[in-house]
Amino acid sequence: MFPAKFAYAAPSSLQEAVGLLADPEAKVLAGGHSLLPLMKLRLAQPKLLVDIGRIPGLSYVRSEDGQLAIGAMTTYREIELSDVVHRAAPVLAEAAHEVGDPQVRAKGTLAGALAHADPAGDLPAVVLALGGSVRAVGPSGERDIDLDGFFVDMLTTALDEREIIREVRLRAQQPGAGAAYQKFDQPASHYALTGICVVVTLNGGSIASARIGVTGVGPKAYRPTAVEQALIGKPAEEEAVKAAVQTVADGIDVQGDIHASPEYRAHLARVLTRRAVLQAAQRARG
Ligand SMILES: Cc1cc2nc3c(=O)[nH]c(=O)nc-3n(C[C@H](O)[C@H](O)[C@H](O)COP(=O)(O)OP(=O)(O)OC[C@H]3O[C@@H](n4cnc5c(N)ncnc54)[C@H](O)[C@@H]3O)c2cc1C
Repeated sequence: MFPAKFAYAAPSSLQEAVGLLADPEAKVLAGGHSLLPLMKLRLAQPKLLVDIGRIPGLSYVRSEDGQLAIGAMTTYREIELSDVVHRAAPVLAEAAHEVGDPQVRAKGTLAGALAHADPAGDLPAVVLALGGSVRAVGPSGERDIDLDGFFVDMLTTALDEREIIREVRLRAQQPGAGAAYQKFDQPASHYALTGICVVVTLNGGSIASARIGVTGVGPKAYRPTAVEQALIGKPAEEEAVKAAVQTVADGIDVQGDIHASPEYRAHLARVLTRRAVLQAAQRARG
C-alpha cells in the first residue's frame, strides 16, 4: 500500500520545524512507526512531513534534579540500553523492551509514542505511573505539560497542532520504591490488550504510596486514582491487594474489538493490576 502524495522537509532546528508546522496540513515525523502505517492505510494524509530526525541533539537520556530528561528522538532501544534509565527508573527500560519487535524499538521514539497517544501503547501507562511532564516547543515558546493532563482522548493529547515535544521529563523512582509493568499483549503486534504499570513505596509490610498507569483498557491511558488511594495502608499481600484493585476499570469507557471484549479487558485490568502491585512491592522489599 502506498500513501497519498506528500512533501518532505528536513529542518535543521526545532525553530525551523515549528515554522513549517504553520501549514495546517503538516505533521511531525519522528520514528515513523505509527504515522507511516496510518498514511499507507490513508487514515492520515498529511501534505507535508516535517522530519525532526535530522535535527542535531534530540537523542539523549540525562539525569537532572531527580528527573530523567529524555530527548524527542530517543528510541525505545536507546532507553532499553541506557544505564541512566536502569539506575533512575528501571521499569521504563523494562517496558520499552516489551514494545513491538527489534525493528520497531530501533526506530520508534518515546516522545512519538506519547504524541500519538495510541490507547494500546505501552509507554503511556509507564509515564503516568512515574509522573512527570512533557516539554513542548511551539510558536509562542516553550511550556511544560503535566503528564496527568496530557492524554485527552483516543489519539488526542494536550499538545497544540503546532507544538513539538522537545523532551520528556520523568520522575526518578524514589530510593526504596518498587515498580513493575505487567502486560497482556496482542501476539502479532505486541500492542497491549491491557498494560499496567505500578510504582509503590512500603512502610513496613504495608503500602505507603501507589501510582498506577493503565493502558489498553479505555480510549486513553489513565491513572485509577481511587485504586491508588484504596491501596494506601493495606498489607502488600494477595487478598488485600486483590480487594483494593477491583475498581480499576470502573467509570472507564472500556473498549472492545476483535481481540478482546470490554468485559475481558476489564478482567485483565483487575488481574494485571493485582500482579503488578505485588511484583512492585516485592521489588520494593529488595
Ligand atoms: C509492527 C508494529 C508493532 C508495534 N508494536 C507496538 C507495541 O507493542 N507497543 C507500543 O506501545 N507501540 C507499538 N508500536 C508503535 C510504535 O511504538 C511507534 O513507533 C510509536 O508509537 C510512535 O513513535 P514514532 O517515533 O515512530 O512516531 P511517528 O510514527 O513518527 O509519529 C507518531 C505521531 O506522533 C507525532 N509526533 C512524533 N514525534 C513527535 C514530537 N516529538 N512532537 C510532537 N508530535 C510528534 C507525529 O506527528 C504522529 O502524529 C508498533 C508499531 C508497529 C509498526
